[in-house]
Amino acid sequence: MKRIATILTMLFAVAACSAGGSSPAPTAGGSASPGGSASATPSPSPVPGNSTPASIKEKGRLTCGVKFDVVGFGFKNPTNSQIEGFDADICREIAKKIGVEAELIEAVSANRIPFLNERRVDLVISTFTINDDRKKQIDFSRPYYVAGQSILAKISNTAVTKVDDLNGKNVCSAEGSTSEKNVREKAAQAKLVLFKTYTEAGQALSDGRCDAVSTDDVILFGLINAYPDTELKGEPFTTENYGIGMKKDSTELKKLVDDELAAMDADGRFKALWEKNIGKYTKKEPKLPPAS
Ligand code: GLU
Repeated sequence: MKRIATILTMLFAVAACSAGGSSPAPTAGGSASPGGSASATPSPSPVPGNSTPASIKEKGRLTCGVKFDVVGFGFKNPTNSQIEGFDADICREIAKKIGVEAELIEAVSANRIPFLNERRVDLVISTFTINDDRKKQIDFSRPYYVAGQSILAKISNTAVTKVDDLNGKNVCSAEGSTSEKNVREKAAQAKLVLFKTYTEAGQALSDGRCDAVSTDDVILFGLINAYPDTELKGEPFTTENYGIGMKKDSTELKKLVDDELAAMDADGRFKALWEKNIGKYTKKEPKLPPAS
């Protein structure tokens, strides 16, 4: 177990260097304003049309936007450039069902909806929480994982034990995430420092630019591996139902994706991929959550 942790730490450290090199400086800082915009990235007008199983087959590949720096869900392994994780593997299963190759490109929190609307991707499988605001802009599959937002801080930091304690503190997270929105709502006096990626947020915690990182527990598990002087503080304070994002009115594609998730659950592939990718991070039962 310790050996796995050490390997993950090494992998993450290399990934942290490469992700940090290609990403710009923090995108926003200062006091969070309650009710402020949840995303700094403007959503362009949607490109007409929708991906369908037939159009994907004709293209010859299923393009999925996934994270490249979230260990367990979407992670570009710096030793072999393979994209690993539960989200990446679910994309591969759906591609197989359609009978095409999977193409995985990086989708960070803020560009997930624009990537769908610009038709740069067919699907977004990227630790993507289903919520009403997003459902006005895009469609989601049924949920396939339930995470919860948590707080990561240095073990030595005893001043942060719950969400209330984030008030007045520098709190790092990713722009365009529900994590950002939830901090604005639940700790309105927190000073949000927002980055494109959680890798950058972890680096900022490590070098003291923020007091805490707040996002989904499953994302923070990877940061703990990279920064062993950190720990989760308190219990998760939100429910994050992950769904697969697709362009609005993707009726045919949504049916195929939902049916395939159910088929994967029924024939054991869902459980096997869960155990392979995230079994060591979560004690939850490896089962598809109810459809609604
Ligand atoms: N699940 C949350 C979201 O979709 C936070 C994690 C992320 O940014 O990917 O916004």
